Amino acid sequence: MGEMQAIRGTRDILPAEVGYWQFVESTAGQILGRALYQEIRTPMFENTSLFERGIGEATDVVGKEMYTFLDRGDRSLTLRPEGTAGVARAYIEHKLQAAGGIQRLWYKGPMFRYERPQAGRQRQFHQIGVEVLGSDDPRADVEAIALATEILKALGLENLKLDLNSVGNGEDRQSYRQALIDYLTPYRDSLDEDSRERLSKNPLRILDSKDEKTKEICRNAPSILDHLGEESRKHFDRVRSLLTDLGIVYRVNPCLVRGLDYYTRTAFEIISDDLGAQATVCGGGRYDGLIAQLGGAPTPAVGWAIGLERLILLLQQKRANPVLIPDFYLVSKGEKAEAIGVVLAKQLREQGFSVELDLSGSAFGKQFKRADRSGAIVCLILGDEEAEGGTVRLKWMQTQEQVSLSREELLNRQEMLRNQIDRHKS
Ligand code: ATP
Ligand code: MG
Repeated sequence: MGEMQAIRGTRDILPAEVGYWQFVESTAGQILGRALYQEIRTPMFENTSLFERGIGEATDVVGKEMYTFLDRGDRSLTLRPEGTAGVARAYIEHKLQAAGGIQRLWYKGPMFRYERPQAGRQRQFHQIGVEVLGSDDPRADVEAIALATEILKALGLENLKLDLNSVGNGEDRQSYRQALIDYLTPYRDSLDEDSRERLSKNPLRILDSKDEKTKEICRNAPSILDHLGEESRKHFDRVRSLLTDLGIVYRVNPCLVRGLDYYTRTAFEIISDDLGAQATVCGGGRYDGLIAQLGGAPTPAVGWAIGLERLILLLQQKRANPVLIPDFYLVSKGEKAEAIGVVLAKQLREQGFSVELDLSGSAFGKQFKRADRSGAIVCLILGDEEAEGGTVRLKWMQTQEQVSLSREELLNRQEMLRNQIDRHKS
């Protein structure tokens, strides 16, 4: 691969695509804002030990996928593979719990994992995520899940499935772990290699295997749901009934275990049938043990992360790029007219209009063609005649209707023009 190409597993988001990203980010920001979630921005790299302690060394993310390096001071640093550990670290470091009660936070940004790149799987990818810290109320789980579904719905993505499970608390999992090992051990030789290795280290993750034969074996495995203690059971039932109250359809999937170690009780994924192998758009759950594990006061928490690349692949299948249509396209010819054009474009932008200034200096005919292609609502025309007369010509592109106005009049009609242009856009 050439030196002047983007690194394998990374890609440029070019202007032709960026409209989708802005649409997703602004929609998510609005919906989260209405629920009073506040944005938090943490650094892109952290001490390696944060992820080792937070995510767990037996996970794929920490064991195989981290971008870890020594900096010039010989510190081991890691490009963040996910957002929760950094948010948890910031929460502890800045004593955000002292700010009173529950923290509802959200973040967005690039994450880094050394994985085999394919459609919907990259080495630098992007997530939007939320974390609700300080509540173990099932309503917190349900609020978070409902926000994820609301964002996806607002983007026009239907046909997504919500899978739900409870992975219990530490005690429940201990009992389940043993039952699972007892069940799987006789099948040891038929399991895929990764799963064989996990049998003693992290047996729950075997349920998550993508290997067909292993999946088949897991079909009759004991269910974690039969190992939930009273407390976890009540929590799970409450989450389920609240989801039903909200009209959110879900499927209980006892094989759903999240890739990261810190999850407790609620675990969920939102899955699309239109994404091939990389089907999970959003994953999340409760992680009541994480903050304490990182040295903070015991703090129950729940959160999720949406993978933006996968979301945008879906959006591209479903809808045209939300392109920016200029209110005005300004064509001008001749030194004096061109100077006036520069000033007029700035004045109109200050009034809140979007204005594309044609810089080509080519003949009017060519400039008009570009005005057409831009999709602009109004073409503004400035030639020698207009420059001398203090006027400007407006051409409404849809009706081809033309009027001549003094430039002062144009600038005095801000409100009327805004309304007219918006009518044309809708
Ligand atoms: P997968 O099973 O697909 O590897 P995961 O369990 O590792 O997913 P999480 O850590 O839960 O994923 O991250 C949440 C979401 O982030 C995923 O559901 C997915 O949409 C997205 N995501 C995770 N890894 C990648 C990646 N390498 N490239 C693109 N998106 C990713
Ligand atoms: Mg993964």
